[in-house]
Amino acid sequence: MRKIAFITGASRGIGRAIAIRLAAEGWSVGIGCLHRMDLAQALAEELRSRGQDAVAVQADVADRAAITGAIRQAEDALGGPVALLVNNAGIAEQHQIQDVTDAFWRRIFAVNVDGALHTIQAVLPHMLHEKTGSIVNISSIWGQRGASCEAAYSATKAALIGLTRSLAMELAPSHIRVNCVAPGVIRTDMVEVLGEETLASLAEETPLGRLGTPEDIAQAVALFADERSSFLTGQVLTADGGFIL
Ligand code: NAD
Repeated sequence: MRKIAFITGASRGIGRAIAIRLAAEGWSVGIGCLHRMDLAQALAEELRSRGQDAVAVQADVADRAAITGAIRQAEDALGGPVALLVNNAGIAEQHQIQDVTDAFWRRIFAVNVDGALHTIQAVLPHMLHEKTGSIVNISSIWGQRGASCEAAYSATKAALIGLTRSLAMELAPSHIRVNCVAPGVIRTDMVEVLGEETLASLAEETPLGRLGTPEDIAQAVALFADERSSFLTGQVLTADGGFIL
């Protein structure tokens, strides 16, 4: 299959860095976006101006029909089926468990977990037919260990690890690799709500002495995407500067 990648939630933050990195490595990239199509379009234009192939498409990953349609739209524009899927779109909110509403619980699972199911089922038929492909799910260190006041988020991210390992086994006979990146604290809009003081103390608690960058996570995704990593499947790569060691 041609090197065509689709990244969800790629208009900003970690997803944006992944799109830039994969494009630099010769992938044509579908940039999935929910709200900020202006940013997604600007990124696609920036990549195209460097001679790389990119297209921005809009959909809510929680909406199966919408995200499946958006993936088909990206495939039409990029000229082939998705060979590499990166499930990056995600939401996070901090609540004490007694304040978690049914609506919030359902929404965070709908985006972080159902979203991955929808995209995987959208790209799998081609991958199964071609007997090749690669899927990378973006989990979190909070899916590996507990996070106080983030039980819902942590549960969704742990679910992605279970999904990764099970699918890796199920799809291995079809030569489809499924891996997972578990980022530590990465400097993006998602963590700005924590405030400078908390972020500084999290950096201090990190053995490598700093917070991660979106490019650090793009590096981990690029490792799994590389065809030379053809013996890596079902793995969870923690990219956290040693935070949870
Ligand atoms: P971010 O908020 O900047 O990016 C999240 C992206 O997902 C945004 O572009 C957003 O529009 C998109 N998105 C949200 N809901 C969506 C939906 N329903 N449909 C489609 N797109 C949707 O945050 P980020 O830090 O870049 O996060 C990227 C991923 O990395 C997330 O899955 C997040 O959980 C994970 N992560 C982040 C950190 C961190 O410290 N920043 C740590 C661990 C894991």
